[in-house]
Amino acid sequence: MTEHLARAFVLDRRPHREQDLRVTLLTEHGARVDAVALNAQRSKRRFMGALSPLVLYRVRYSTTPKATRLDEAQVDQVWPGLSRTLRSQTAALAATGIVRAVAEPTPHDGALFLLLGELYTAAAASDDRDALAARLVRFAFEVLDHTGHAIALDRCVRCDTPAPDGARVTVDPHAGGIVCRGCGGGPYAMSAADRADLRSVLAGDYAVGRAEMLRWAARIIEGVSVDAAGSIAGVVEHFDPR
Ligand SMILES: [Zn+2]
Repeated sequence: MTEHLARAFVLDRRPHREQDLRVTLLTEHGARVDAVALNAQRSKRRFMGALSPLVLYRVRYSTTPKATRLDEAQVDQVWPGLSRTLRSQTAALAATGIVRAVAEPTPHDGALFLLLGELYTAAAASDDRDALAARLVRFAFEVLDHTGHAIALDRCVRCDTPAPDGARVTVDPHAGGIVCRGCGGGPYAMSAADRADLRSVLAGDYAVGRAEMLRWAARIIEGVSVDAAGSIAGVVEHFDPR
């Protein structure tokens, strides 16, 4: 049995047997850890904060070849702003869902962990609809980028021909970005203006952000991760009701 100590976010928790919880963690080392927390439905002492998502914990867990057991969790950081408005909380939960969809058991780097903490901090500080939508869109693309699913919006993913800035393009989500007409095109058309705004947001310029970008992002990301796209689609109604 090997014991581990780490800071970790809870990506998911669900009841298991009568008194246990199954939890999915993201550690600061970038690993997704699926563990069973024995008696966690009762023990508030060993498992502070009831292992809720949107909280940073210090956890102790042990692994055997057959199973991983969460032994203890102490609250390390909370974001009170996330419970103040439904929109902030919805964005933070969607970000959590995106990470849950793509995080892998092998640790690689701390990027996902840092990105998630930053998103929580931003969402807790402001619930401005368009800025928050922009942050969530950028977050999703960055998370995919860090997990080997980069989406190209500047060139054709098949022939590498740059897409002119003023050009309307078509995107093939399953191919991972723009596919030019010569390479067969893609099912999802995007105007030059919309693509320029999306690329500005992805570069960190949230001022041009708007809620409908969540719809575009869900469409584009769907081919890479259906679950990540689903997490984004799930927040659209809160941001851009139609
Ligand atoms: Zn091409």
